[in-house]
This record gives sequence, C-alpha cells and structure tokens, in this order.
Amino acid sequence: MTNRKPIIAGNWKMNNTKENAEKLLKELIPLVADATAEVVVCVPYTAIETAVKLTKGTNIAVGSQNVSWADSGAFTGEISADMLLELGAKYAIIGHSERRTMFGETDETVNKRTKQAIAKGLIAIVCIGETLAERQGGITESVLKTQILGGLKDIPASDFDKIVIAYEPVWAIGTGLVATDEQAEAAVAYTRRELAALIGKKANEVCIQYGGSMNASNVDGLMAQPNIDGGLIGGASLKAVDFARVVKFSA
Ligand code: PEP
Repeated sequence: MTNRKPIIAGNWKMNNTKENAEKLLKELIPLVADATAEVVVCVPYTAIETAVKLTKGTNIAVGSQNVSWADSGAFTGEISADMLLELGAKYAIIGHSERRTMFGETDETVNKRTKQAIAKGLIAIVCIGETLAERQGGITESVLKTQILGGLKDIPASDFDKIVIAYEPVWAIGTGLVATDEQAEAAVAYTRRELAALIGKKANEVCIQYGGSMNASNVDGLMAQPNIDGGLIGGASLKAVDFARVVKFSA
C-alpha cells in the first residue's frame, strides 16, 4: 500500500435485477460505511438508477461496465456517457477481458471509449491483462505494453486523474485461480513503469488495481504489495459480506 487512495470496485457483470440489486446494496451499505477505501459498484445499466438512489449520501459510488465512444447516434446496443452521467454513474469499466474476448473490444476501441469517458467526466477503469497462453509463452510484459500503449494512446498526463488501471490476468478471472502476490505485484509494477514512460511522474499517482479471483481470503496479501492500490472484484462482489471484507482489507 502507498498513499494512493485505494479503490475497491465490484464488477457485478450480467447479474442482479433491480430487485436483487436493492437487496444486495441494502445489506452492503452498513457493512462498508466505515471503509477507508473508495467503494464502487459497477452494476448492469438497468440497475444504475436504483443503485445511485440507494447509495445517495453513502460512501459507495456507482459505475457502469462499458461506455460508448460516441455522443449519440446509430450505435445499436451502446450507451453514451451522457446517459450514464444522467443516471448518476461516476465510473465506467472499459476493456474488460470478457468484452475483449466475446464482444470484439480492441485496444483501439478501448482508447476511444476511455477518451470519451474522461472527456465527459466519468472515471475510466481501464482493464488490461494477459491470457494463460501469453503468460506461459513468456510474453506477459509485451502484451501489457501493447495494451497500455494502444488503450491509453494520446491521453495527456493531466487526464490520468480520471483513469484507474485494472491489471486482470485473464486466467485468473472467474476461475478461482489467483495470481500470487509476487506475480500480481510484478505485473502491476511493470504497468507502472510503462505508465511512467508514457506520462512521467504522474504514474506514481495512478491507482492500479489487481483483479482476478480476489476475495476475502487473498485480499490482504495482494493489497500489501507496494504497487497494488485496489481491486476489481467479480464473483466476490455479489455477496455483501464477502465484498465488505474485501473492501475492508488489512494491509
Ligand atoms: C472481473 O470480472 O473483473 C473479475 C476479476 O472477476 P472475478 O473476481 O470473479 O475473477
């Protein structure tokens, strides 16, 4: 841990109707009220309004799981930053590996979405990470470098106040396989070095999260690593007690 404020974000993925979202958040709100980390829930679009209403006046911020690069127009199935902001969203996940592998997201579209998100005033949680084959092939760092250079291309250092990076090894997402503390720290430290090459000293201020089967039993070790400033949490964010324990890590 460092003096960068930790951000723990839940990624609910395609889970929770409005009714279930309400139940989960009502349970979560008192459990995390005294958290020192920034707490974020990235919920399905249909639950954003409910989540924003319920968390008003609490320490929980609400985010989406994607955002369009365009202002408006013929983009069937997309959602604009203005629409998200209108509902009260503050964060948007961009370039999650599930979007990259199943929905054709590329570093170029990640870059366009990120620029639009931050221009409109959302905080972008930009996801990067290698597959198992890439790790086994010894190319983790070059994969991360390509994703960083492509996804964060032509964004001035001053805009990195509105960017969070989530390092998420694809092989650890939803698999129960977690990166060791050392593997996660090495990749996150590498990410910060690449950011420094891009934006100089500002890289020291950027929050870099780890994501990939982070849960109550491994969060403390991961958060104790000097470069890991937070977590992006899938499965463990769907149960209030589990997510609250992650949020209230001790490092
Ligand atoms: C994620 O979806 O970003 C994620 C890290 O999922 P899980 O925690 O379930 O591995």
